[in-house]
Parts: sequence; C-alpha cells; structure tokens
Amino acid sequence: MIRILPLLLLLFAACPAQAQEVRKPVTILISIDGFRADYRERGITPTLSKLAAEGAHGALRPSFPTKTFPNHYAIVTGNRPDTNGITGNNMIDPRRPAVKFSLGDPKQSLDPFWWDEAEPAWVTANKAGVRTATMFWPGSEVAIHEIRPPDWLRYDENVGYAQRVNTILDWMRRPADIRPAFVTLYFEAVDSAGHEFGPDSAEVNAAIAEVDARIGDLVAGLAAMGQPAQLLVVADHGMRAIDESRVIQLADLIDLPSIIAVETGPYAAIEPAAGTDNRVYDALLKPHDHMTCNRREELPERLHYGKNPRVAAIICIAAPGWSILAGPPQWPVKGGAHGYDNQDPQMLALFVASGTPLKGDVGIVDNIEVYPLLMRLIGVAPIPGDASGALVKRLPR
Ligand code: AMP
Ligand code: ZN
Ligand code: ZN
Repeated sequence: MIRILPLLLLLFAACPAQAQEVRKPVTILISIDGFRADYRERGITPTLSKLAAEGAHGALRPSFPTKTFPNHYAIVTGNRPDTNGITGNNMIDPRRPAVKFSLGDPKQSLDPFWWDEAEPAWVTANKAGVRTATMFWPGSEVAIHEIRPPDWLRYDENVGYAQRVNTILDWMRRPADIRPAFVTLYFEAVDSAGHEFGPDSAEVNAAIAEVDARIGDLVAGLAAMGQPAQLLVVADHGMRAIDESRVIQLADLIDLPSIIAVETGPYAAIEPAAGTDNRVYDALLKPHDHMTCNRREELPERLHYGKNPRVAAIICIAAPGWSILAGPPQWPVKGGAHGYDNQDPQMLALFVASGTPLKGDVGIVDNIEVYPLLMRLIGVAPIPGDASGALVKRLPR
C-alpha cells in the first residue's frame, strides 16, 4: 500500500476529470465612492497601480451634479442624470410633490418610480440571459423595469469589506450554470473619510490603502480559483476641502420660509415655496461673489442638466471650496465635499480597467462612456443613450 500510494496520487493528478474547467471571464464593476482621480498617484495603492500598469487608466469626468446616486446611475445606464432620472441624491418630482427622494429614505429610494426612466446594465444583461450579481450599487436593490439581479443585497455599510469580497469569491465558486458573469462591488470608506477629514487627511489615505488591499484580495482569490476577470474600477466623483470660512448663507439673500432647499452644499437646488415667487428669483439670480445661480432652463449647455422636471427651479453652484447653506448646517462645515461643477479638476474620478482589451492612458472621459464599454465586455447590446462610445472606440478592432 505504501508503495502504491505515490502511484495513486500521480494518477489522480493526471486524471482528466480533475482537470481545470475552462472558466469564462467574469466582468466586475467596482466603485470606490469618492476616489478622486489623483489619489492613485499617492503611492499607496499597489493593487490599483499594478492593474493600471497592465491595463488601462485615466480619469472619469462625473456628470453634474457630482453626487453619488446620479453618477452611479450614469455609469450603469450611459445616461446623464437629466436623462436617467436620478437628478440628485435629493430630489422632488412634481408628480409627487409631497415627498422627497433622498438616499437615506428607503421608502422613496427603493421605489422603482424614481429609477424607471433608464435601464441599468444588470437589467439589460438579465434580459439577455447574462447572469448578474450585485454586491451593492445604488439602484441594485430596486426592481427597475420589474427586474432585480438574481443575487443582490440590501445596502448596509456595516457589511465588512473582506465579507463583500468573499461574497463575490463564493459566487464565483458556484457551478457554471448559476455563476454570475457580471458583478458589481461598492466601497464607501474613501468617500466617508473624505467628508469627515478632508481629501488630504491621513484618514483618507488609510481608507484608500484598505480598499486597495481588499481589491488585491479579490484579484488573488480569483487567480487562485483560475477565474479570469475583466475589472473596471471606477469612482463616482472626487472630493474637495471645505471649511467654515467659505460659507454662503441663503438666509442673507432671501427669507428662508420663501424657499424649499431640496439640496444644499457645493450646489443648491431651490424651489420657491409658493410655486412662483419673483422675489426668490430676483434675490437668487443676481450675481454673487462665490456662487452662480441659474433658472434650470438657463443652465450652461455643457452641464446637460435642467430638462428633467425633477431638477429644481433654481440651481446654484458654489465656487470651488465654498458651501451654500439654508440655515444652520446639519453637520460642521469642515473636511471635504463634492457636488461642484463637473469641470472642477478635483471632482475627477478614478478609472482603471484590467484584463480587458483596453490598454494605456485613456485621458479624461465622461463617466457615461463606461456603460458602452461595460456592455461590450459582457457581450450585451447597449441601449442607445447619451454616451458617444468614446471608450469603446479605443478598443482594438
Ligand atoms: P454622498 O452623500 O453623495 O457622499 O453619498 C455617499 C453615501 O451614499 C455613502 O456614504 C453611502 O453610505 C451611501 N450609499 C451608497 N450606496 C447606497 C445604497 N445603495 N443605498 C443607500 N445609501 C447608499
Ligand atoms: Zn459618492
Ligand atoms: Zn460623498
């Protein structure tokens, strides 16, 4: 027995039944919320640096407003907020005047009413027979066009990052017929630290390093099971330092009961409380030192914003680093914020692609261009929308 054991082991090793199954590549779309494009140059992201060097890298210009929900939806639909219907983290629809969508209010944020104006990649993929699984993504918990990914989880920031990565690795260990071919993954820590401590803080660097390490675990875990992967690592917007010395109080311009401030901060979305009220327009539309206000119909064309009825009547954009407030701040004006003009270089967001045919420096591209690339990678026809195809045109023919 002792003598035949090595022989048996040898036989097993050579046995074709044990041979590695040839796995189809999985496409994983990873969002690191608030990862400003230049964070990648800090020398603290060995994983992202390696992926970028082997694949492609650049910067995503976010869509206006440079907030989380509008931009996550832009990335997975190829449509800017005006067209995709998620016009803000906070918004009011004239068809539902009594309620406000906000990302912290599940009663509204999980209602398909808000999301149905566009179709995210996972819904189209599902219809085309491409199995999808979402490890968080704004909108993935909602039955958009009546479809949810076959595997999805209710967003919970307490789910640890190792657990998120292990969930994906477990999905990939499944038998081929129930294994996802398109997966999303989301991390919030870089954004949270950016808000609390500012983009240049040690806390942001620690969050960047932590997320980079977890993406490293994902890459290693996939390699260990022989699972080829196409990774798109993106962010929704950047981050800019703010402080209490740069505050614009709307109360200095108009009595607050005359307005409904749907959104405040780097940009403000304002409705006259009385529906129409010339005093509000007169007070806000005049020139200001550190803020520019426009009727939604008169916003600069380059913002591609204002046609959707969910955009408030007046949109004010603060100068870089300034904060627009309607009354005492909900939290201290310190640390960092985003929501500024999408031409602000500090709003630029991460873009790295690895394991895909895309190679080299792609420069600055509009974030809606990720969608056609993503659809090409998963082999599903994209729904025509706002994207021009600027990224897919860079693919080798
Ligand atoms: P923002 O206020 O634009 O910085 O939004 C970032 C916050 O959005 C993060 O801190 C997350 O907690 C939150 N968030 C991200 N994804 C979701 C989701 N699917 N549902 C609810 N909140 C989310
Ligand atoms: Zn964000
Ligand atoms: Zn944020």
